[in-house]
Amino acid sequence: MVSIHFSLEEVTHTDTGLDNEIPEPLKQNATRLAETILEPLRVILGPMRINSWFRSPGVNKAVGGVESSYHRLALSADVVPNGDVFKAFKMALTLLAELPIDQIIFEHHNSSWIHIGAAKDGEAPRRQALIGEPNPVTGKMTYRAYRA
Ligand SMILES: [Zn+2]
Repeated sequence: MVSIHFSLEEVTHTDTGLDNEIPEPLKQNATRLAETILEPLRVILGPMRINSWFRSPGVNKAVGGVESSYHRLALSADVVPNGDVFKAFKMALTLLAELPIDQIIFEHHNSSWIHIGAAKDGEAPRRQALIGEPNPVTGKMTYRAYRA
């Protein structure tokens, strides 16, 4: 377990079938994300499914992630709460000032999920709230600030 409710299996879960073992030094990042953000989030949203958390270079490439992705460091997770994901996103935003959230993104592409991440070691959380959806013309995911 990396925290009370989140397991190492959830950290390394991938649907790609590729090797996704997390290097030992990155486990503390997974624990920090779980303890400081995911556990408090779970209190208000209930149990959630983790689509993607840590990504090995191969997994990150396979899912089209950028090399600078915080998933590479186990500092971000894509979570799917029960019920309406956008509603859950808005509920999560009520904790934005309180929790050390670096980025929280409502992503909508075929299905919906919430990308949520912690800051890198020694960096201040940016507390950015974004919406990510494919550009209707190019299909490329684009991100814009979310204004409540
Ligand atoms: Zn993500």
